[in-house]
Amino acid sequence: MAERILTRNFHLPESHTLRVYRETGGYEGLSDVLAMAPATIIETVKRSNLRGLGGAGFPTGVKWGFIPKGHQGPVYLVINADEGEPGTFKDRYLLEKDPHGLIEGMIVSAHAIGSRLAFVYVRGEYVQPWRIFSRAVQEAYDAGFLGKSILGSGVDLDVVVHRGAGAYICGEETGLISSLEGKKGWPKLKPPFPAVRGAFGAPTIVNNVETICHVPHIVQRGASWFAALGTAGQGGTRMYSVSGRVARPGVYELPVSVTLRSLISEHAGGIANGRRLKAVVPGGSSAPILTADEIDVTMDVDGLKNAGTMAGSAGVIVMDESVSIPEALMIVARFYAHESCGQCTPCRESTGWIYKMTRRIVEGRGRKEELDTILDVARRGAGTTICAFYDGAVGPYISYIEKFRDEFEALIPK
Ligand code: SF4
Repeated sequence: MAERILTRNFHLPESHTLRVYRETGGYEGLSDVLAMAPATIIETVKRSNLRGLGGAGFPTGVKWGFIPKGHQGPVYLVINADEGEPGTFKDRYLLEKDPHGLIEGMIVSAHAIGSRLAFVYVRGEYVQPWRIFSRAVQEAYDAGFLGKSILGSGVDLDVVVHRGAGAYICGEETGLISSLEGKKGWPKLKPPFPAVRGAFGAPTIVNNVETICHVPHIVQRGASWFAALGTAGQGGTRMYSVSGRVARPGVYELPVSVTLRSLISEHAGGIANGRRLKAVVPGGSSAPILTADEIDVTMDVDGLKNAGTMAGSAGVIVMDESVSIPEALMIVARFYAHESCGQCTPCRESTGWIYKMTRRIVEGRGRKEELDTILDVARRGAGTTICAFYDGAVGPYISYIEKFRDEFEALIPK
């Protein structure tokens, strides 16, 4: 059985407390790590092949290296805990069951990038995770793991916990930064990238919760150890949120080299109620759908990209033969129409039109040409907008219709 790294303490009572975290080795190597040169930590993270686990899959160490050399003035670390991608629920477990793992990850990461002030942007709906994490931050301050000269190292770090207000778009890093600054959570055109000009105009590194939780383990156990757990292009394990029609839905931490078939049939107990698999969304709702014949793929960033979909947030949504794909697309389309921030015409208008057309089809009022209209509208808008939201919405629009066109046509009056 593969080693569990981030979820190893989840079964322990009171795993969220400082006491249990320290009893299981937490913060033990922190003094030594704070004595390391920041450049050494960045190099180690680069060599480990740690990729961003929030959605984009960008190499973490490379992102850290984008902070302008010789920069004078503040640098911020921002933790993206705005876990809003439908089908994804793993960061909430880290906040609730191992908050000190995230705090230790933040201390090490902030030291690496030269940040003395870090923000944690928690999804507004995550009330309980926010409460538990905020208590852990206070415990860490009281015990000298946060604040001035942590453990006498001369390294300072303050942490601000900030709650969002329930907008999906604030999970996009520039939207998140705008919201953190007290403005409307509207994404901005890049460049400049946040690592050059981010929160309050200062270089800012935005990383996902799970990504940062890996950092202390990588620095203490070595880049080669972490890299060897995964595939050629991505190191380590990741936490898969498995939902839908499986026998055992839940969060599974596995090496990224696991196949989608093994994740569903072995770890999640296979399809529930003796039904047959129809389709899977492997990386949160924005990932293009895979058919039952396409699940012999590894779950790393490159494996899923080569299969024409994406690893995204590793939210695995399993659909059995009883699921209506047109209805599933209508639900996804309603979500994107509701969550578009409205700045870009293709995104604002198309998400609404496509929801209305899919709804008409599901209600038996559709017209055959509307399927091609949806595909045309989706393809024309892709790549023309400020942020990746619309490109993410296009993935399901196109893939659901292309792979299950018969099901849509069967609902359209002749
Ligand atoms: Fe807003 Fe959509 Fe444009 Fe992103 S793509 S900035 S969500 S309108």
